Amino acid sequence: MCEYCENIPNNESKIGEPEEGIFYNEKEKKHYFIVEQARYERTRVEVKNCPMCGKLLDKEYDLYEEFLKFSYEELKDLYLKSKSKEEKSFYMALCNLKL
Ligand SMILES: [Zn+2]
Repeated sequence: MCEYCENIPNNESKIGEPEEGIFYNEKEKKHYFIVEQARYERTRVEVKNCPMCGKLLDKEYDLYEEFLKFSYEELKDLYLKSKSKEEKSFYMALCNLKL
């Protein structure tokens, strides 16, 4: 977490007022990175991570979605394959959540 992504405005800047940075579009539920290419000409790119610190911007949402993609068997498999103790307890906790 950095200062840059800590205070992401909810709305994109008004047209005609060139502004750069990350904005959250509530309608689309997406983060956009806006860069001014030329005077009053802005490009927006969808971003999933903060370009400064790399933090995932939709962290909670994404993690939950990712979790839903796995079946109990797949999580158990990941648990069996994990090497470190930390990894094992992480997958064990996820397995228990699935049940
Ligand atoms: Zn950041």
